[in-house]
Amino acid sequence: MSDITVPDIGDFEDVPIIEILVSVGDTVSAEDPLVTLESDKATMDVPAPAGGTIESIDVSVGDRVSQGSKLMTLSGDEGGDDDGDASSAGSEPEPEQAPASPPAEDSPEPAVTSEPTPAPATDDGPARDFEVVVLGSGPGGYTAAFRAADLGLKVALVERHEQLGGVCLNVGCIPSKALLHAARVISETQEMAEHGVRFAEPKIDLGALIGWKQSVVDRLTGGLSQLAKQRKVEVIHGEARFSGPNTLQVAEREVSFAHCIIAAGSEAARIPGLPDDPRVIDSTGALSPDEIPGKLLVVGGGIIGLEMACVYDALGTKVTVVEMMDQLIPGADPDLIRPLAKRIGERYADVMLSTRVDTVRAQKNGLQVTFSGDAKSKRFDRVLIAVGRVPNGGAIGADAAGVSVDERGFIEVDAQMRTNVPHIHAIGDIVGGPMLAHKATHEAKVAAEVIAGRNVAFDALTVPSVAYTDPEVAWMGLTETQAKAEGIEYEKAVMPWAASGRALGLGRPEGMTKILTEIDSGRVLGCGIVGVGAGDLISEAVLALEMGASAEDIALTIHPHPTLSETVAFSAEMIDGSITDLMPPRKRSR
Ligand code: FAD
Repeated sequence: MSDITVPDIGDFEDVPIIEILVSVGDTVSAEDPLVTLESDKATMDVPAPAGGTIESIDVSVGDRVSQGSKLMTLSGDEGGDDDGDASSAGSEPEPEQAPASPPAEDSPEPAVTSEPTPAPATDDGPARDFEVVVLGSGPGGYTAAFRAADLGLKVALVERHEQLGGVCLNVGCIPSKALLHAARVISETQEMAEHGVRFAEPKIDLGALIGWKQSVVDRLTGGLSQLAKQRKVEVIHGEARFSGPNTLQVAEREVSFAHCIIAAGSEAARIPGLPDDPRVIDSTGALSPDEIPGKLLVVGGGIIGLEMACVYDALGTKVTVVEMMDQLIPGADPDLIRPLAKRIGERYADVMLSTRVDTVRAQKNGLQVTFSGDAKSKRFDRVLIAVGRVPNGGAIGADAAGVSVDERGFIEVDAQMRTNVPHIHAIGDIVGGPMLAHKATHEAKVAAEVIAGRNVAFDALTVPSVAYTDPEVAWMGLTETQAKAEGIEYEKAVMPWAASGRALGLGRPEGMTKILTEIDSGRVLGCGIVGVGAGDLISEAVLALEMGASAEDIALTIHPHPTLSETVAFSAEMIDGSITDLMPPRKRSR
């Protein structure tokens, strides 16, 4: 008989129990969730430390507990967590449909780019180790694995690194946003000086800052391992390559599967001919610096390069950005980029557009760099290469499974995320399109659900893009550049944040919210926002596009005052003609 107490749950104390997931007499396996706690920051399950029978429950819903509080008593040991016990509380959900049924007659028309070849062998064949093996544990991979497990399939998740989470959690979205938050705090303290509140110059303890960033990453990646255990997803560590249409070789072990989901992601693109020197870094190196460089050259004025530039600028580095196109963040409308370009133009050492790096020479005192059209070199302490990402399709032995990979390393898929080999799906960065985590997770769910026999397809109308720079830039749906190139007629309203009380109060009135709508119907076609928090504001426009909402629908939706979200409503009111906070752009009555 043993007491089950609340384990170390981080910085939370005195948190309420919101659900008790077992009853006295239930048999549980190790890691089965027992109770759910909810703090103001997170909801978390307390798992069973071992298998056994629940003898008593000492708490009720609503009770507040901290680390060490007794929850219940457990007797006996029903074995490890791997076998699971069908009678366990919190056991796996029943499959909602027979797994892997062939697509129904009325399957959505897949966006097939190549003829599917017949599956060499699927689940009619010999017994396999797993119904689904997912290759890669990034946001695409872990989402696919967890969804497939939740639909009742026996799943393995294969990852070459010790930590789960892929690029996004370990060296991408999450660590970069943690450092960008630090950058924002530093900038805000500087900005407040103009408004009568002066802080001393910040003292940066780089080790502590990077340690904090890493603790955020570790917390999330550790959480993934826990979630995998709770779902009985077997995590297999090792470099994987296909050894046949239904097998993956993972280190010494051959793993067989009925279905596979390739989610092997991408890596930073390199520029050939650069010196092999530790001072030439990619985004991964930039996220874990050993010192704050005096002078940094960022090669590539896209989202990743500018986010890193933003961090280093706040830390006190003199930043230069070089971009070969004539605009920063090519892909976003030029008017959205203007406030960002203005701000960084004032803060950075230099921003060079329509310029290429010609040579980089490693010298003792720095990296000497020459640029196109200028023979004179400039010296930098670090050079960050941020010129895009390349898919990992060429390094997984796809040939052995018959999966086609193009010359750049991308894998073509149809709208159900199937490759040319029908029992093998692919998702995330490796299939192209915007290389973004939220695209990967949505594709992941489609792939898992299709394998489980559901008739679904990836048919999102847009994948929003966000640069978490300062100010942030976010856009979705139709851009003006695209509309003009494709001859699409549209109506447009631009709401300057100088007319937003909230933006003024934040001291950041340089932003704007632009909305594009269909002529006559007023249906939202596209939206672009630049300003602090733009990345959070864009979701409303995405929902409007997906729901077929019109500018009038947004205008009639009451937005809380004073918020930046009102700028979306105001831009809709400008289309609609009902704006009162500005002069209406044209006379219209409703
Ligand atoms: P990945 O995350 O690349 O994961 C693939 C996994 O597969 C990796 O863990 C890899 O180790 C594993 N793998 C590959 N080959 C093998 C093999 N042969 N055997 C075993 N394992 C293998 N996106 C956003 O949406 N928002 C952001 O703010 C954002 N910020 C970013 C910032 C930076 C600095 C970077 C670099 C990227 C950022 N991204 C952002 C992009 C985002 O990280 C990717 O789009 C996302 O991680 C792709 O997910 P994925 O599942 O396709 O692959």
